[in-house]
Amino acid sequence: MLQPIIDSRAITHLKKLLAEARNIVITCHLSPDGDALGSTLALCRVLRKMGKDAHVVYPDQLPRSLQFLPAIQDAVIYSKSQVRGGFLVRNADLIFCLDFNTLKRIDKLAEVVEKSRAPRVLVDHHLDPDDIFAVKISFPHLSSTCEVVYRLLYEMALLHHIDTEVAQCLYLGMMTDTGNFTYSSEYPEIYEIVAQLMRYSINKQWLYNMALNTFSEDSLRLQGYAMSEKMEVFPEAGAALITLTANELERFHYAKGDTEGLVNKPLCSPRVQWVMFLREDPDKIKVSCRSQGDFSVSDICAKYFGGGGHKNAAGGDFFGTMDEAVAVFHQLVADIAAAQRTEQ
Ligand code: 5GP
Ligand code: MN
Repeated sequence: MLQPIIDSRAITHLKKLLAEARNIVITCHLSPDGDALGSTLALCRVLRKMGKDAHVVYPDQLPRSLQFLPAIQDAVIYSKSQVRGGFLVRNADLIFCLDFNTLKRIDKLAEVVEKSRAPRVLVDHHLDPDDIFAVKISFPHLSSTCEVVYRLLYEMALLHHIDTEVAQCLYLGMMTDTGNFTYSSEYPEIYEIVAQLMRYSINKQWLYNMALNTFSEDSLRLQGYAMSEKMEVFPEAGAALITLTANELERFHYAKGDTEGLVNKPLCSPRVQWVMFLREDPDKIKVSCRSQGDFSVSDICAKYFGGGGHKNAAGGDFFGTMDEAVAVFHQLVADIAAAQRTEQ
């Protein structure tokens, strides 16, 4: 038995909003990952089974590695189909915002979502959500939005709508946001949920292989290059840096998703407590950080890169050159090393 954790007023309010809504839009953050895709697709399928006209609208393109997910072809990608996406949002009676805490995270879609008359429902696990939601279901200490969606279905007595497809989607997000149950999963109840999902005959091994263990040869070579030629370790600050410029990415025919997981690799070294990965995208330098233990990379991403995330996994953007972004990292390393020397 799971302990109910969602505020009963939030459940009552959501039930009322759901009863009144016919057209529902579900969205999630830019560059959706396994948790964002799994939670949106699972919720959409459940809402459709409840007789709702539900649609998933993604802000931008999906990673190649997760295109195998059921019903993903059916979703609208706003950066490619603004007319259709805009229509669905404007026409919605209810908008679910999954796996993000601030409208900044949905890029250009934010404008339409902000203007919409529909109440917004947040289902998420990031710190400090915006105050723009009619219903806020946010649990930063939980593994994933997929876990929050499962708990929501459980507490709203909607589990009978779960089938193999929904269960696979929910398992996917729990698996990817915990690095296959390595981090953010140190509490027994998460395994009770996994046990319950297993009853729907999900293919765990297939999901793992498809989502976390399939890379193109270009991607494998790019990752090999990044580790061998581009990783720098700064033991005095327990830090590692990986940078990939646009030219380097192009050399390996980079496609979205090709560097997924790369930022975790330096943590294998006992000398590395936190990692920053800087990737030169067409419009910005994408910052991605990981850490272990008490070192908070979400503070760093919030302070220097206008971003955030979780204590051990966070990201942000840098609008400037790669050299300037690297200079910010070097300054951080110098500050941390100096602070550590003072402590000793
Ligand atoms: P990743 O490094 O895998 O892109 O993201 C790791 C975590 O940081 C995710 O939970 C993601 O939601 C968060 N994150 C990544 N980029 C950003 C960003 O630009 N802004 C904020 N607020 N969070 C981010
Ligand atoms: Mn997530």
